[in-house]
Amino acid sequence: MLREDLRNIAIIAHVDHGKTTLVDEMLKQGGSFRENQVVAERVMDSGDLERERGITILAKNTATYYNGVKINIVDTPGHADFGGEVERVLKMVNGVLLLVDSFEGPMPQTRFVLQKALELNHRVIIVVNKMDRPDARLNEVGDEVLELLLELDATDEQLDSPIIYCSGREGTATMDPNRKGTDLKPLFDTILDYIPAPEGDPDGPLQMLVSSIDYNDYVGRIAVGRIERGTIKTGQEVSLCDYHVEDLCTNGRVTAIYQYDGLKRVAVEEAKAGDIVAFSGLENVNIGNTVCAPYEFEPIPFVKISEPTVEMTF
Ligand code: GDP
Repeated sequence: MLREDLRNIAIIAHVDHGKTTLVDEMLKQGGSFRENQVVAERVMDSGDLERERGITILAKNTATYYNGVKINIVDTPGHADFGGEVERVLKMVNGVLLLVDSFEGPMPQTRFVLQKALELNHRVIIVVNKMDRPDARLNEVGDEVLELLLELDATDEQLDSPIIYCSGREGTATMDPNRKGTDLKPLFDTILDYIPAPEGDPDGPLQMLVSSIDYNDYVGRIAVGRIERGTIKTGQEVSLCDYHVEDLCTNGRVTAIYQYDGLKRVAVEEAKAGDIVAFSGLENVNIGNTVCAPYEFEPIPFVKISEPTVEMTF
Protein backbone atom coordinates (compact mmCIF):
# COMPACT_ATOMS: atom_id res chain seq x y z
CA MET A 1 0.00 0.00 0.00
CA LEU A 2 1.27 3.47 -0.88
CA ARG A 3 1.32 5.99 1.96
CA GLU A 4 0.25 9.05 0.03
CA ASP A 5 -0.06 10.87 3.35
CA LEU A 6 3.66 10.56 4.00
CA ARG A 7 7.11 11.39 2.59
CA ASN A 8 10.40 10.35 4.19
CA ILE A 9 13.41 12.39 3.17
CA ALA A 10 16.98 12.93 4.33
CA ILE A 11 19.03 16.09 3.98
CA ILE A 12 22.61 15.85 2.81
CA ALA A 13 24.49 19.06 3.54
CA HIS A 14 27.97 20.25 4.33
CA VAL A 15 28.23 21.97 7.70
CA ASP A 16 27.28 25.67 7.51
CA HIS A 17 25.48 25.35 4.19
CA GLY A 18 22.28 26.25 6.02
CA LYS A 19 20.51 23.02 6.90
CA THR A 20 19.34 24.11 10.35
CA THR A 21 18.02 27.43 9.10
CA LEU A 22 16.16 25.84 6.19
CA VAL A 23 14.61 23.07 8.29
CA ASP A 24 13.48 25.62 10.90
CA GLU A 25 11.78 27.56 8.15
CA MET A 26 10.15 24.40 6.76
CA LEU A 27 8.78 23.73 10.24
CA LYS A 28 7.47 27.28 10.50
CA GLN A 29 5.83 27.31 7.09
CA GLY A 30 4.54 23.75 7.28
CA GLY A 31 1.78 22.88 9.70
CA SER A 32 2.20 20.78 12.80
CA PHE A 33 0.68 17.63 14.20
CA ARG A 34 -2.13 19.46 15.99
CA GLU A 35 -3.67 20.76 12.78
CA ASN A 36 -3.12 17.52 10.92
CA GLN A 37 -4.72 14.55 12.57
CA VAL A 38 -3.38 12.19 9.94
CA VAL A 39 -1.30 10.14 12.33
CA ALA A 40 -2.66 7.92 15.06
CA GLU A 41 -4.45 9.57 17.93
CA ARG A 42 -2.32 11.20 20.51
CA VAL A 43 -1.97 9.55 23.88
CA MET A 44 -1.64 12.01 26.71
CA ASP A 45 -1.81 10.52 30.14
CA SER A 46 0.59 11.88 32.71
CA GLY A 47 3.02 9.02 32.26
CA ASP A 48 3.37 9.81 28.60
CA LEU A 49 3.83 13.47 29.30
CA GLU A 50 6.62 12.67 31.68
CA ARG A 51 8.28 10.35 29.23
CA GLU A 52 7.88 12.87 26.48
CA ARG A 53 9.53 15.65 28.43
CA GLY A 54 12.46 13.38 29.02
CA ILE A 55 13.17 12.51 25.43
CA THR A 56 12.41 15.69 23.55
CA ILE A 57 16.00 16.80 23.61
CA LEU A 58 17.13 13.61 21.93
CA ALA A 59 15.16 14.22 18.77
CA LYS A 60 17.49 14.38 15.78
CA ASN A 61 14.74 13.89 13.25
CA THR A 62 11.90 16.28 12.55
CA ALA A 63 8.59 16.31 10.74
CA THR A 64 6.51 18.97 9.10
CA TYR A 65 3.22 18.96 7.18
CA TYR A 66 2.23 20.32 3.82
CA ASN A 67 -1.16 19.92 2.15
CA GLY A 68 -2.09 17.17 4.58
CA VAL A 69 1.09 15.19 3.94
CA LYS A 70 3.52 14.52 6.74
CA ILE A 71 7.16 15.02 5.73
CA ASN A 72 9.66 13.23 7.95
CA ILE A 73 13.06 14.85 7.71
CA VAL A 74 15.91 12.62 8.78
CA ASP A 75 19.32 13.92 9.66
CA THR A 76 22.31 12.27 7.98
CA PRO A 77 25.79 12.18 9.37
CA GLY A 78 27.47 14.82 7.23
CA HIS A 79 30.63 12.82 6.68
CA ALA A 80 32.06 9.43 5.82
CA ASP A 81 31.60 6.77 8.46
CA PHE A 82 32.92 3.32 9.15
CA GLY A 83 29.93 1.76 10.83
CA GLY A 84 27.28 1.70 8.15
CA GLU A 85 25.36 4.51 9.85
CA VAL A 86 24.91 6.39 6.61
CA GLU A 87 23.32 3.41 4.87
CA ARG A 88 21.01 2.64 7.74
CA VAL A 89 19.78 6.21 7.93
CA LEU A 90 19.37 6.48 4.17
CA LYS A 91 17.42 3.23 4.09
CA MET A 92 14.66 4.90 6.09
CA VAL A 93 13.93 7.40 3.32
CA ASN A 94 12.81 7.44 -0.31
CA GLY A 95 14.70 10.52 -1.44
CA VAL A 96 17.17 13.20 -0.42
CA LEU A 97 17.57 16.95 -0.49
CA LEU A 98 21.11 17.74 -1.55
CA LEU A 99 21.65 21.13 0.03
CA VAL A 100 24.51 23.20 -1.38
CA ASP A 101 25.67 26.73 -0.56
CA SER A 102 25.19 29.02 -3.58
CA PHE A 103 28.71 30.39 -3.31
CA GLU A 104 30.76 27.47 -2.00
CA GLY A 105 29.27 24.78 -4.18
CA PRO A 106 29.40 21.05 -3.36
CA MET A 107 32.03 20.07 -0.79
CA PRO A 108 34.03 16.83 -0.86
CA GLN A 109 32.90 15.84 2.64
CA THR A 110 29.33 15.19 1.50
CA ARG A 111 30.43 13.11 -1.48
CA PHE A 112 30.37 9.84 0.42
CA VAL A 113 26.85 10.34 1.73
CA LEU A 114 25.62 11.40 -1.70
CA GLN A 115 27.24 8.37 -3.28
CA LYS A 116 25.38 6.10 -0.85
CA ALA A 117 22.09 7.82 -1.62
CA LEU A 118 22.70 7.33 -5.35
CA GLU A 119 23.58 3.67 -4.84
CA LEU A 120 20.28 3.18 -3.01
CA ASN A 121 18.62 4.59 -6.12
CA HIS A 122 17.14 7.48 -4.21
CA ARG A 123 15.69 10.43 -6.00
CA VAL A 124 17.60 13.66 -5.41
CA ILE A 125 16.29 17.20 -5.18
CA ILE A 126 19.14 19.68 -5.60
CA VAL A 127 18.72 22.66 -3.31
CA VAL A 128 21.03 25.57 -4.08
CA ASN A 129 20.72 27.45 -0.81
CA LYS A 130 21.54 30.99 0.38
CA MET A 131 20.52 32.40 -3.00
CA ASP A 132 20.33 35.80 -1.30
CA ARG A 133 24.13 35.91 -1.00
CA PRO A 134 25.51 38.80 -3.05
CA ASP A 135 28.31 36.50 -4.22
CA ALA A 136 25.94 33.65 -5.14
CA ARG A 137 26.95 31.67 -8.23
CA LEU A 138 23.58 30.11 -8.88
CA ASN A 139 24.07 28.68 -12.35
CA GLU A 140 27.67 27.59 -11.84
CA VAL A 141 26.86 25.83 -8.58
CA GLY A 142 23.96 24.04 -10.27
CA ASP A 143 26.40 22.85 -12.94
CA GLU A 144 28.97 21.79 -10.34
CA VAL A 145 26.38 19.60 -8.64
CA LEU A 146 25.44 17.99 -11.94
CA GLU A 147 29.12 17.34 -12.66
CA LEU A 148 29.46 15.69 -9.28
CA LEU A 149 26.43 13.49 -9.99
CA LEU A 150 28.06 12.46 -13.28
CA GLU A 151 31.31 11.59 -11.51
CA LEU A 152 29.39 9.45 -9.03
CA ASP A 153 27.69 7.46 -11.80
CA ALA A 154 24.22 8.80 -11.17
CA THR A 155 21.48 7.24 -13.25
CA ASP A 156 19.82 9.23 -16.04
CA GLU A 157 16.90 9.88 -13.74
CA GLN A 158 19.17 11.16 -11.00
CA LEU A 159 20.96 13.40 -13.52
CA ASP A 160 17.57 14.84 -14.33
CA SER A 161 17.06 15.91 -10.70
CA PRO A 162 15.06 19.07 -10.15
CA ILE A 163 17.00 22.11 -8.96
CA ILE A 164 15.43 24.50 -6.47
CA TYR A 165 17.00 27.79 -5.47
CA CYS A 166 16.33 28.71 -1.85
CA SER A 167 17.10 31.19 0.81
CA GLY A 168 16.53 29.44 4.10
CA ARG A 169 17.15 32.75 5.85
CA GLU A 170 14.40 34.50 3.91
CA GLY A 171 12.20 31.42 3.78
CA THR A 172 11.90 31.47 0.01
CA ALA A 173 12.30 29.00 -2.83
CA THR A 174 12.06 29.24 -6.61
CA MET A 175 12.68 27.08 -9.66
CA ASP A 176 13.94 30.12 -11.55
CA PRO A 177 17.38 31.42 -10.55
CA ASN A 178 16.52 34.82 -12.01
CA ARG A 179 13.50 35.37 -9.81
CA LYS A 180 13.30 35.39 -6.06
CA GLY A 181 10.62 33.22 -4.51
CA THR A 182 8.04 34.36 -2.00
CA ASP A 183 7.82 31.30 0.24
CA LEU A 184 8.93 27.65 0.43
CA LYS A 185 5.96 26.30 -1.53
CA PRO A 186 8.05 25.37 -4.61
CA LEU A 187 10.27 23.24 -2.36
CA PHE A 188 7.32 21.56 -0.62
CA ASP A 189 5.55 20.95 -3.93
CA THR A 190 8.67 19.35 -5.41
CA ILE A 191 9.06 17.08 -2.38
CA LEU A 192 5.46 15.90 -2.71
CA ASP A 193 5.64 15.47 -6.49
CA TYR A 194 9.10 14.05 -6.92
CA ILE A 195 9.86 11.94 -3.82
CA PRO A 196 7.92 8.67 -3.87
CA ALA A 197 5.52 7.92 -1.03
CA PRO A 198 6.70 5.02 1.14
CA GLU A 199 5.13 1.65 0.54
CA GLY A 200 4.31 -1.25 2.81
CA ASP A 201 1.51 -3.56 3.88
CA PRO A 202 0.05 -2.29 7.18
CA ASP A 203 -1.78 -5.58 7.71
CA GLY A 204 1.20 -7.92 7.29
CA PRO A 205 3.40 -9.21 10.12
CA LEU A 206 5.40 -6.42 11.75
CA GLN A 207 8.92 -5.84 10.44
CA MET A 208 11.23 -2.92 11.25
CA LEU A 209 15.01 -2.52 10.90
CA VAL A 210 16.47 -0.61 13.84
CA SER A 211 18.44 2.23 12.23
CA SER A 212 19.60 4.03 15.32
CA ILE A 213 19.37 3.88 19.09
CA ASP A 214 18.75 6.59 21.62
CA TYR A 215 18.86 6.36 25.37
CA ASN A 216 16.85 8.11 27.98
CA ASP A 217 16.74 7.82 31.78
CA TYR A 218 12.95 7.55 31.91
CA VAL A 219 12.40 4.82 29.34
CA GLY A 220 15.82 3.27 28.71
CA ARG A 221 16.85 2.29 25.23
CA ILE A 222 14.85 3.70 22.36
CA ALA A 223 14.86 2.03 18.95
CA VAL A 224 14.48 4.28 15.90
CA GLY A 225 13.57 3.07 12.43
CA ARG A 226 11.06 2.96 9.62
CA ILE A 227 8.32 0.36 9.80
CA GLU A 228 8.80 -1.85 6.78
CA ARG A 229 5.59 -3.83 7.15
CA GLY A 230 2.69 -4.18 9.56
CA THR A 231 1.55 -2.03 12.46
CA ILE A 232 3.16 -1.48 15.84
CA LYS A 233 1.01 -0.84 18.91
CA THR A 234 1.75 0.33 22.42
CA GLY A 235 1.74 -2.64 24.77
CA GLN A 236 2.27 -5.12 21.97
CA GLU A 237 4.65 -8.05 22.33
CA VAL A 238 7.38 -8.18 19.68
CA SER A 239 10.32 -10.39 18.82
CA LEU A 240 13.81 -9.20 18.12
CA CYS A 241 16.20 -10.91 15.70
CA ASP A 242 19.21 -10.05 13.59
CA TYR A 243 20.26 -11.15 10.13
CA HIS A 244 23.91 -11.04 11.09
CA VAL A 245 23.69 -12.40 14.66
CA GLU A 246 22.44 -15.95 14.41
CA ASP A 247 21.43 -16.69 17.96
CA LEU A 248 19.63 -13.44 18.68
CA CYS A 249 15.94 -13.93 19.22
CA THR A 250 14.36 -12.38 22.26
CA ASN A 251 10.93 -11.07 23.04
CA GLY A 252 9.81 -7.85 24.66
CA ARG A 253 6.91 -5.47 25.01
CA VAL A 254 6.56 -2.04 23.42
CA THR A 255 6.03 0.46 26.26
CA ALA A 256 5.69 3.67 24.26
CA ILE A 257 5.79 4.73 20.61
CA TYR A 258 6.82 8.17 19.46
CA GLN A 259 6.58 10.00 16.19
CA TYR A 260 8.19 13.25 15.19
CA ASP A 261 6.34 16.54 15.30
CA GLY A 262 8.36 19.63 14.62
CA LEU A 263 11.37 19.35 16.88
CA LYS A 264 9.58 17.19 19.43
CA ARG A 265 8.44 13.65 19.69
CA VAL A 266 4.85 12.88 20.48
CA ALA A 267 3.54 9.67 21.96
CA VAL A 268 1.17 7.77 19.69
CA GLU A 269 -0.91 4.68 20.24
CA GLU A 270 0.20 2.97 17.05
CA ALA A 271 2.12 3.47 13.82
CA LYS A 272 2.14 1.59 10.55
CA ALA A 273 4.19 0.63 7.52
CA GLY A 274 6.07 3.64 6.15
CA ASP A 275 6.14 5.59 9.42
CA ILE A 276 9.44 6.50 11.05
CA VAL A 277 9.09 5.84 14.75
CA ALA A 278 11.01 5.70 17.98
CA PHE A 279 9.87 3.25 20.62
CA SER A 280 10.89 2.04 24.03
CA GLY A 281 10.50 -1.25 25.83
CA LEU A 282 13.25 -3.45 24.42
CA GLU A 283 16.17 -3.27 26.81
CA ASN A 284 18.52 -5.33 24.64
CA VAL A 285 17.79 -3.74 21.32
CA ASN A 286 20.73 -2.86 19.09
CA ILE A 287 21.34 -1.11 15.81
CA GLY A 288 20.82 -3.52 12.93
CA ASN A 289 18.28 -5.69 14.80
CA THR A 290 14.92 -6.40 13.22
CA VAL A 291 11.75 -5.98 15.24
CA CYS A 292 9.17 -8.59 14.21
CA ALA A 293 5.73 -9.82 15.14
CA PRO A 294 6.01 -12.36 18.01
CA TYR A 295 7.95 -15.42 16.82
CA GLU A 296 7.75 -14.40 13.17
CA PHE A 297 11.48 -14.02 12.76
CA GLU A 298 12.25 -12.36 9.47
CA PRO A 299 15.49 -10.43 9.87
CA ILE A 300 16.36 -7.69 7.38
CA PRO A 301 19.97 -7.64 6.18
CA PHE A 302 21.94 -4.43 6.01
CA VAL A 303 25.45 -3.45 5.09
CA LYS A 304 27.35 -3.63 8.34
CA ILE A 305 30.68 -2.07 7.58
CA SER A 306 31.10 0.54 4.92
CA GLU A 307 34.55 1.69 3.95
CA PRO A 308 34.77 5.31 2.91
CA THR A 309 36.48 5.87 -0.39
CA VAL A 310 40.12 6.84 -0.11
CA GLU A 311 39.57 10.47 -1.02
CA MET A 312 37.23 10.83 1.96
CA THR A 313 39.82 10.04 4.62
CA PHE A 314 41.02 13.52 5.47
P1 GDP B 1 24.10 24.18 9.12
O1 GDP B 1 25.44 24.06 9.76
O2 GDP B 1 24.10 23.59 7.75
O3 GDP B 1 22.97 23.69 9.95
O4 GDP B 1 23.90 25.76 8.84
P2 GDP B 1 23.09 26.88 9.63
O5 GDP B 1 21.66 26.85 9.30
O6 GDP B 1 23.49 26.86 11.07
O7 GDP B 1 23.70 28.19 8.94
C1 GDP B 1 25.10 28.43 8.86
C2 GDP B 1 25.35 29.92 8.63
O8 GDP B 1 24.80 30.31 7.38
C3 GDP B 1 24.69 30.80 9.67
O9 GDP B 1 25.55 31.88 9.92
C4 GDP B 1 23.42 31.29 8.99
O10 GDP B 1 22.98 32.53 9.48
C5 GDP B 1 23.84 31.35 7.55
N1 GDP B 1 22.71 31.10 6.65
C6 GDP B 1 21.80 30.09 6.74
N2 GDP B 1 20.91 30.17 5.74
C7 GDP B 1 21.25 31.25 5.01
C8 GDP B 1 20.69 31.85 3.84
O11 GDP B 1 19.68 31.41 3.27
N3 GDP B 1 21.32 32.95 3.35
C9 GDP B 1 22.44 33.47 3.93
N4 GDP B 1 22.99 34.56 3.38
N5 GDP B 1 22.97 32.93 5.04
C10 GDP B 1 22.40 31.84 5.56
